[in-house]
Amino acid sequence: MYASEPLWQEFYKRLSDQARRLIDPTTGRVREHYVQSVKCPFCASERFTVRVVRDGFQYVTCNECSFAYLNPQLTQQAIEEVYNDEDVRRFFFQELLLPHVERDQRSEFEDRLRTLKQLVPSTSPRLLDVGCAAGNFLQIAHRAGFHGEGLELNEMYVEYIRQNRSLTVHQRLLEEMQYPEATFDVVTLWDILEHLPQPVQTLQRVAHVLKPGGVLGLTTINHACLNERLLKDRWRYYMPPDHLCSFTPSLLTRMLQQTGFHIVKMQHHYMFEVLADHWFPFLKLDNRPTNALSNKVKKLIYSSLALFTQKLFGILKSGDLLTVYARKT
Ligand SMILES: [Zn+2]
Repeated sequence: MYASEPLWQEFYKRLSDQARRLIDPTTGRVREHYVQSVKCPFCASERFTVRVVRDGFQYVTCNECSFAYLNPQLTQQAIEEVYNDEDVRRFFFQELLLPHVERDQRSEFEDRLRTLKQLVPSTSPRLLDVGCAAGNFLQIAHRAGFHGEGLELNEMYVEYIRQNRSLTVHQRLLEEMQYPEATFDVVTLWDILEHLPQPVQTLQRVAHVLKPGGVLGLTTINHACLNERLLKDRWRYYMPPDHLCSFTPSLLTRMLQQTGFHIVKMQHHYMFEVLADHWFPFLKLDNRPTNALSNKVKKLIYSSLALFTQKLFGILKSGDLLTVYARKT
């Protein structure tokens, strides 16, 4: 995916501006009444070391279990204000629905569904997509023979699905749903885990609603990657206030084991665009119609570099993003 699209850029810029508006200029840190200190979401320790400071927020590493998380974190009220700020969110929403973004996502989603089909014995598996956004994945899953439904908190997405797609979506947290034990063959958490204040509890809940032998598919961010080492606090996925935690392959493995899963497949995705934003800013697209040719050349250079580096760093298993398939034990 060409992630230097103007709408993505605008989203990242506005998200960063939004975070900065919460900062007290005298301290350079987020204002105290917006935030609360939290214990380590993995082991409950209160001892930590500051890892990086980004836009006035600090990401810390737990001294006991080395889990990386945002501390302090926004209060529930502040989180709701931030997530309901349409001036920020509509750019992400619009981008997801662009035809070429949907097309790029489709091949990725079809790949994931092929893997899930291989891992699940049922011929018409029941699937729950937690944080289903505009329903792009659910729609493709439905065509691939899955009986899917989604959970989504964002009003914009829920309205879009209800008006445009024949999909079942609930505007609820997983923890609020009264699903009986062993309801689903597959649960998916695409780009969700890093947004959760209590990822362990959510994974436990996922294990509860999965059938024995059922499969969890997830993608999340990996700070033990080459780009984080090169960029430190400028690494894109240190993204306050949205990203509340980040993982490493070994930490994610431990967390999944403790919540009742064993990993059957883990893939690394190196994100060229994370480096490109800093090192190749001239490759960013320009919206003006007169720049159509220049945009085509930029896309060609960008795609070639992305393909080359993804192959290279894929070998090193140092991806910014992890895709994991785990079976309930
Ligand atoms: Zn810990």
